[in-house]
Amino acid sequence: MLKVGITGGIGSGKTTVARLFQLLGVPVYSADEAARRLMNTDPEIIQQVKLLLGEEAYLPNGNLNRAYVAQRVFQDQQLLEQLNAITHPPTIRDAEMWMQQQKAPYVIKEAALMFESSSFHLLDKIVVVYAPVHLRIHRIVQRDHVSVEEVKNRMRRQISPEVAIKLADEVIYNDEQKAVIPQVLQLHEQFLELAAHPH
Ligand code: ATP
Repeated sequence: MLKVGITGGIGSGKTTVARLFQLLGVPVYSADEAARRLMNTDPEIIQQVKLLLGEEAYLPNGNLNRAYVAQRVFQDQQLLEQLNAITHPPTIRDAEMWMQQQKAPYVIKEAALMFESSSFHLLDKIVVVYAPVHLRIHRIVQRDHVSVEEVKNRMRRQISPEVAIKLADEVIYNDEQKAVIPQVLQLHEQFLELAAHPH
């Protein structure tokens, strides 16, 4: 089975693009969603997060205290890296297991951090969703009701779009200039063809 990764900077529209593939019947795994689920349910992750950030990292109902954790790690790059080191390996394993269970010519894994976490080695093709910075900032300010400064802060922690495009096999332009759906349809055909006739 062909494994396709979709990634892109914050606000590029990777979740939106992944949904379009899902509408075409392609199974889609969201790494961010999975990480959120595993942080609430995986006993080993819970134990390690508490060791790293203290008991306050979890709410009395057992769910991750997202506000507290965000406030701690977004001011401290090293802490963020330590948290990622706890959550990434089990999420990558969970994705691999999920992919093996799917019955489809190809599957998609959508993740904000892909090149950064080396999970891209396990994927056959990587699609980068691209949008210019001003549009990404506008979208996230609208969606998350955060400041421009906060969006810029989050962007700084991701690799630059130029590097991502160089590392990508395919690029989808979600820049409000080029229509997205035809690009998705074209890649869908291409991946089906590749899955049927692997080189
Ligand atoms: P994040 O990294 O924060 O998860 P993302 O790359 O997954 O972001 P989306 O959540 O898909 O991005 O899109 C960000 C916001 O921009 C959403 O509210 C989405 O509806 C909107 N959006 C995405 N693409 C477009 C577009 N072409 N036109 C208008 N709005 C768009």
